Amino acid sequence: MNRLIPVTQVTPSSPPSRASSKIYPRSFSGIYRKIRMGGGAILFALYFGTVWLNWGERQAVLWDIADKKFHIFSATYWPEDLVLLSAILIICAFGLFFITAVAGRIWCGYACPQSVWMWIFLWAEKLAEGDRRHRMKLDDARLSQAKILRRLLKHCLWLLISVATALTFVGYFTPIRALVPDLLSFNLSGSALFWVFFFTAATYVNAGWFREKVCLHMCPYGRFQSSIVDNESLVVAYDAGRGDPRGSRSRGADHTAQGLGDCIDCEMCVQVCPTGIDIRDGLQMECIGCAACIDACDSIMDKMGYEKGLIRYASHNELNTGVRNILRPRLVAYFLILVTMIGLFSWALATRPLLTLEVERDRGLFRYSGSGLIENSYLLNLTNKSNETRHTFIAVYGAEGFNMRGPDGVTLNAGEQREIPVVLEKDPSSILSAVTEVSFEISSFEGPDGRVVARTTFLAPTPIER
Ligand code: SF4
Ligand code: SF4
Repeated sequence: MNRLIPVTQVTPSSPPSRASSKIYPRSFSGIYRKIRMGGGAILFALYFGTVWLNWGERQAVLWDIADKKFHIFSATYWPEDLVLLSAILIICAFGLFFITAVAGRIWCGYACPQSVWMWIFLWAEKLAEGDRRHRMKLDDARLSQAKILRRLLKHCLWLLISVATALTFVGYFTPIRALVPDLLSFNLSGSALFWVFFFTAATYVNAGWFREKVCLHMCPYGRFQSSIVDNESLVVAYDAGRGDPRGSRSRGADHTAQGLGDCIDCEMCVQVCPTGIDIRDGLQMECIGCAACIDACDSIMDKMGYEKGLIRYASHNELNTGVRNILRPRLVAYFLILVTMIGLFSWALATRPLLTLEVERDRGLFRYSGSGLIENSYLLNLTNKSNETRHTFIAVYGAEGFNMRGPDGVTLNAGEQREIPVVLEKDPSSILSAVTEVSFEISSFEGPDGRVVARTTFLAPTPIER
């Protein structure tokens, strides 16, 4: 049976120093950094690029709040499709559980926007102020022209990234091709200006100032990861059996003869850690699984002529027994549930009606027409959710003797919603009850869902009341 891995809360043994209260991650290189940069570049390209794509006459991905429509390439979703969008969120959440059970917080380390933007901000900081040692020196240095200029450059870079991020984000809700010229010509609407300002501030503060604190104190995912990972989950782990006892030694020295393990206690793994923890203390809540410590330690192992992997992706059981067991029942169950959910969602998406009809009866009960007929008024709400023009026919059925006043057909453009007022009338002598069920039907030769029916009622005075 799989036991959950206890996540350690490591309490510092000494009061926090300046160096421990502010984290100065050291830059490093290695295979995992390359993977993260490649992944980050793809995410950046998707985020900043998708918003500029067009699909026909409109923006390809646009949450049109004013028209209450969500366009994503060829598909358009309406408020009543929110259940499908909620399903996407549930599938994503479950997918995250699954990935966490397989490989811990791999999402946090490689794809979470907070991490990706934090790395970008760290890169900008390094560009302006230098690497870890220089930044620490700069913090300690007296105020000078050089210090002010470096700080200014850093904050300008941060602001530039923040504004671009915010503009792009708002561009997913307001067409970006109008948003940018409006901003540059100071014609932006008050609400758009507010949201650009708000997201600029949020990006700047989150990625520039809060950084790892968002992961440590604000993100709930880190809190419940310990209930998802188990002894077979791959997590970033220090091989204590191989590394301990730790101690410095000269290169080429026979450390086994000195009674030392492979860890030279250089603390490079701590210095590169964006959350400032020591992975050698065990899996901790603060670890975002970025693998920076793996890259750093591998480069040290290389220099020392030792085998890489003192810190590596490994499961708790693998470290203890040397056996890796990825295919466990819990994971298979997660996988099957995930596949079933994706299957059901795809089926719901494929069979989603693209032509819809809603009928709203006039609030008034009924009235007599000039020719003595009884009439009820209705508002037919027709929506064409497809990307093609639909020619529709409107009819009423379900009871004999009704006459419909109103158009017997309309042409709906792609994504168009139209309200059609119609009146039903009937000779009072043929009405037997106060409430008669009737149905409106719209039909179209185009598309697979060619016939849509909506029920309503026809009200009339009872024969006694007449
Ligand atoms: S980087 Fe590797 S060798 Fe250096 S302290 Fe960390 S675990 Fe030990
Ligand atoms: S311990 Fe290693 S994997 Fe975890 S956050 Fe720090 S550097 Fe990243």
